[in-house]
Parts: sequence; C-alpha cells; structure tokens
Amino acid sequence: MRVSSRVRAGGLRLLGLVVLACGVQPVFAQEPKQPPTPPAEKSDFEKLMSASGISAFPDRRPRAMPDLFLPPGNRRTSDPGIVRVYKKGKDGKALDPQPKDFPHKVDPTTYKPAEDEFVRMHEGIDLSSRDAKGEKRPLDFKAGVYGKVVGIGTDNNIGRITVEVDDRGNRVEYLHTSKTFVKVGDEVKPDTMLGVTGDVGAKGRLHLHVQARNKDNKAINPDEVVVYAKKPPAERKMAEFFVPMKPPQGVTPASADHSPTAPVPAPPPTSPPPP
Ligand SMILES: [Zn+2]
Repeated sequence: MRVSSRVRAGGLRLLGLVVLACGVQPVFAQEPKQPPTPPAEKSDFEKLMSASGISAFPDRRPRAMPDLFLPPGNRRTSDPGIVRVYKKGKDGKALDPQPKDFPHKVDPTTYKPAEDEFVRMHEGIDLSSRDAKGEKRPLDFKAGVYGKVVGIGTDNNIGRITVEVDDRGNRVEYLHTSKTFVKVGDEVKPDTMLGVTGDVGAKGRLHLHVQARNKDNKAINPDEVVVYAKKPPAERKMAEFFVPMKPPQGVTPASADHSPTAPVPAPPPTSPPPP
C-alpha cells in the first residue's frame, strides 16, 4: 500500500512536471473560477461585512454560485463559516449602526474578542440583489434546488421560505424575502421562481440569505446542501448526511438576524432563527 501510494504520488509529480514543462498549468492546481464581479460600488453593509469577516473554513468546497438563484451579475457577499466581529457599546450591546471599518482586536487564531467586541459565526450564504445595471433592488429569485415547500412565513419578523430537499428532513431556507410565489406543499425545481428578495428582518439591508438546516434544526453547510440538492433526487451521489456546522471554539453560532442589537427571541421548534 505504501509502495503504491508512493508510486501514485510520483506519477502525479511527473505529470505535473510534464505539464509545467509544456507551459500549461496543471488542471488539478487551478482554483474554481468565480463569475466576474460587477464593478458596482460596494454598499456600506457590504464593506462592513467584508471588513469584519474572518473565514473559519477558508477552503470549503463546493460553492453554490449566485446564478443558481439570481440573474447573472449578482455575487456572494458573505459565506457560511465567516466569523463576524461586532463592536460593543458601553452598555454591552452591539453599536447600531456598527462603525465602518473599525480595527478588529479579536485574535484571528483563537477568535477571542476584545472586551468591546463580540464574534458570531455566519451560517448562510449572502447574495447581493442587483439588477443588470448594478442597482440594488428587489429581484425575483429561483429555488436553485429540487424539493418541496414546507414553510412560508415571517417568524421572528424575517421573511422566510423553507424548502425540504429530501426525505431525511434536510432543508434550504431563503431569508429576508418580501414576496412569495409558491405555497406550502408545492414541488419546486431549480428554475422555479420562489419569491422576491427583500430586507424583511435585515434592517433595510436588501439581500438574499440562503441557509440550510437538518431535521434537528442544526445548521448544516448550505453550499454542500445546495450543490447536492440542485440535482434531481435520483442523481444525487453526495454524502447522505450533512455534518452540522461547528463554530470555532469560543464563537457563538449566529442567531436572530444580521442585526446583533435586535432581541433574540427563543426559536419556535419548527423554525430556527437565522444567522
Ligand atoms: Zn446572512
């Protein structure tokens, strides 16, 4: 076994050398290509998010691309696993609004925040909601997956559409939605228009948040779930079970909504709070 793995490694190295000698990048060394990002000016919200994000899982694969849900030109503004830093005021609560580009004192290795900070792990994919001209506005969005609508509502004052993607109770949830085109019980396909993006529960910050939950309401990686569930059930070959996302030690999983100042209501059993 040792010999064969050494032989294989040697073979790969040789292939790499051959490919490099030919002046071509070896295919296995390339990063997956991202769709080109529009040159639109970043919003304050986006600046804050990119400024405050420390990825707890920088090398996760695969990724669900924005085109699955939204018209071309939209992009991911936050990933699952990002640890966000919030600034606390003297009263111990997060400042609202949060200052822009404040220096973070949190230890990026241990995620231990300074006294005037706290950290939370984001559990969803955030997507911009921009039209073809790059203007922010509510947009119709697609399911991106095969499944069945099992919930529509505004629990915790957050617009939410829930799609169960398999018979094991794994679900994809679409948050901050302002309008719904489907009803509970509808079967959906990746191209089914589910609703309209909004800022319901996101304090005026229009975007689409896509998260995933298992049957026990535990957050699971939405990238893995979406890539699995965008295929018809008969063609799915990925892992049967998704492991709940585990925040780094000392980091609280995100709860409530994007606004850390909002009171966090106790989650009803069928509807967990979003990050
Ligand atoms: Zn989000």
